[in-house]
Amino acid sequence: MKKVLIIGGGIAGLTVANALKMRGAETLLIEKSTRTGGAIRTVSRDGFLAEGGPQTFVAEEKKLFDFLRAAGILEKTVEAAPAAKKRFIVRGGRPCVVPMSPVSAVTTPLFSLPGKIRLLAEPFVPAKRDGNAESVANFVRRRIGSEMYNYALNPLVAGIFAGNPEALDVRFAFPKVWNLEQRYGSLIRGSFPNAKAKKASGLYEKKRTLSFPQGMETLPKMLRANLNPSDVRIHSEITNLVRENHGWRAHWRSRAAVCTFFEEDAFFDEVVLASPPRTWSEIPFRDEKLQTLFADVPALTTPPVTMLTLGFPRERVAHALDGFGMLVPEKENRKILGTLFTSSLFPGRAPEGFVTLSTYIGGSRQPEMTALSAEEQLKIVREELETLLGVKGEPAFVERVENPQAIPQYNLGYEKFAAALAEIESAFPLRFAGNFRGGISVAQTMLSALAVAEKITA
Ligand SMILES: Cc1cc2nc3c(=O)[nH]c(=O)nc-3n(C[C@H](O)[C@H](O)[C@H](O)COP(=O)(O)OP(=O)(O)OC[C@H]3O[C@@H](n4cnc5c(N)ncnc54)[C@H](O)[C@@H]3O)c2cc1C
Repeated sequence: MKKVLIIGGGIAGLTVANALKMRGAETLLIEKSTRTGGAIRTVSRDGFLAEGGPQTFVAEEKKLFDFLRAAGILEKTVEAAPAAKKRFIVRGGRPCVVPMSPVSAVTTPLFSLPGKIRLLAEPFVPAKRDGNAESVANFVRRRIGSEMYNYALNPLVAGIFAGNPEALDVRFAFPKVWNLEQRYGSLIRGSFPNAKAKKASGLYEKKRTLSFPQGMETLPKMLRANLNPSDVRIHSEITNLVRENHGWRAHWRSRAAVCTFFEEDAFFDEVVLASPPRTWSEIPFRDEKLQTLFADVPALTTPPVTMLTLGFPRERVAHALDGFGMLVPEKENRKILGTLFTSSLFPGRAPEGFVTLSTYIGGSRQPEMTALSAEEQLKIVREELETLLGVKGEPAFVERVENPQAIPQYNLGYEKFAAALAEIESAFPLRFAGNFRGGISVAQTMLSALAVAEKITA
């Protein structure tokens, strides 16, 4: 039976720990803060519910569903309301519905006629198959034109990565889309055979946008509850990690009370690093070669994002809020990245007669916005919501959550980061799991964590 030390108790670390336990391994999870869950946290107050991190997670991979079933979690999920399929993008200062059918794609005011014609020319654009890095912005402009970039992709990147499409590397940020060009030479021509191949593979189930009645934090809470209490140490840190035989001798200390620690040590066959890359220098690996390899791992940019969830009486909001939310393109020169209509997605987000709106500010586009005072941010968000959604008056509920280093960016140069991790993994019984590799979403992070557990027990 393998003994594995997991450093970091976000969704990645908790998933690795659960998957290893299911496979018969022994694990110890060390979390630095006073809670597990990392970026996933939910606040409930006065009948309102606000997420500080992810609002939903989207599952379609059979592997993920199997894991959620085995962990007893799937049955506790709630699926987003059907209205969530409708999405809005702001153009000309008002939210426009994103077309989801060929007819609405022709009639939508979101794109001009030349923009639509340029999109239809996509199958005739030659494929770029040199394997070289390309920014997401260049890729999209090259394949479907500038207008689609400005009013479809640019806001989407703000919504997913809170990042800069001119800096993100399409090969790592959107590998499925990039692969369509590599494989079929065109995104439009490739979409049908790709969907067919996906269905035939048996690796996917029906795509579902999920959360929980008590919010997203139920997910890490349930994963933690599946572990033995003694296998999770919060408020703890590694004080020494030394190579011993074919594994590691780890020393750690846990805070018992103010100024009181207790220290422990144990042998582990493998270590999984599931904490953010910016924190890796805190782990005292006592191995010269490993230290040199870590010194060569390039830093990833992680722009700040602040999330403001505001609650209003329903009658104070003019917009029907009949969708997932609205994203704001950079071209619109507004001060928010987007707003999710959170009480339209899942029940229990607001008391009867009230609604909640969760607005993101900052990101790579306007990091300076996150440095403003809470009052200034609230004023800006209220002004934007009034203009874009017709929201009037004082909010009945305000919850503000800062994420000073929100999401790692897979920017140009990312391949050096990926190669450096692969080199470390090939030379040491040390593995990496987290949103810094294999995708930043909750589902992608869990899937890459499951792959790590599989490798360890293979
Ligand atoms: C504002 C925001 C909104 C998002 N929205 C969505 C969404 O709607 N849908 C979606 O799918 N995804 C979303 N994401 C992305 C997703 O939530 C994250 O990518 C994912 O939760 C990251 O999980 P992780 O375990 O890799 O990292 P983290 O959650 O960062 O966990 C890392 C853990 O390591 C711990 N740690 C740090 N240093 C040490 C140390 N030295 N020793 C021990 N432990 C340490 C930290 O305290 C933390 O608990 C969002 C993210 C943010 C920030």
